[in-house]
Amino acid sequence: MRIVCVGGGPAGLYFGLLMKKLHPEHAITVVERNQPFDTFGWGVVFSDATMAAMRSWDSESAAEIETAFNHWDDIEVLFKGPDSARRVTDSSASAASSCSTFCNGAALRLGVELAFNQEATGDLDFPEADLIVASDGLNSRIRNRYAEVFRPDLVVRPKPLHLARHEEALRRLHV
Ligand SMILES: Cc1cc2nc3c(=O)[nH]c(=O)nc-3n(C[C@H](O)[C@H](O)[C@H](O)COP(=O)(O)OP(=O)(O)OC[C@H]3O[C@@H](n4cnc5c(N)ncnc54)[C@H](O)[C@@H]3O)c2cc1C
Repeated sequence: MRIVCVGGGPAGLYFGLLMKKLHPEHAITVVERNQPFDTFGWGVVFSDATMAAMRSWDSESAAEIETAFNHWDDIEVLFKGPDSARRVTDSSASAASSCSTFCNGAALRLGVELAFNQEATGDLDFPEADLIVASDGLNSRIRNRYAEVFRPDLVVRPKPLHLARHEEALRRLHV
């Protein structure tokens, strides 16, 4: 089967990686409009529950992630006294760039083809594909095109205060 994942974020890459591992006979291409190893944001955090799910799907890549990431367990956040103590979930974290490097590398090693700098206009760009995975993110063109079929359920929330402050600080730096 010829499979094309439109979008090389975590969803497209990890799907490609797992599918290739389970079915090496499939030809899988991940199409991404950005450059290799481009990342947005500083860090990636996976909770222990996420790591457990990843381990159950592919223990090999999960082990690589756990080696590359830093793990922490108990963190208590205190705000205005001990009554407000919150325990933060056990998690593992790394720089976003390390995560992207790892996912790209693991997919390539298994034989997934990665096509960078390629903007897809939609699923019709790939008439030769037997399966197209719409891994093109939150504003997915493909999901929007077939919204009546997929019926996406999106809830838009106000921006968290810390992100708004961060953006404001960046704006001031650039004036
Ligand atoms: C600031 C920030 C911090 C975050 N921190 C964490 C965290 O610590 N831990 C965590 O688990 N999650 C985190 N998230 C959430 C996480 O980034 C998303 O859940 C995740 O990226 C979703 O993956 P995705 O592959 O579905 O979509 P995306 O990551 O959005 O990937 C979609 C990809 O498709 C490509 N694409 C889109 N359209 C096209 C097209 N037409 N042609 C070709 N390519 C296309 C895009 O360039 C992109 O690379 C964070 C999100 C943000 C915004």
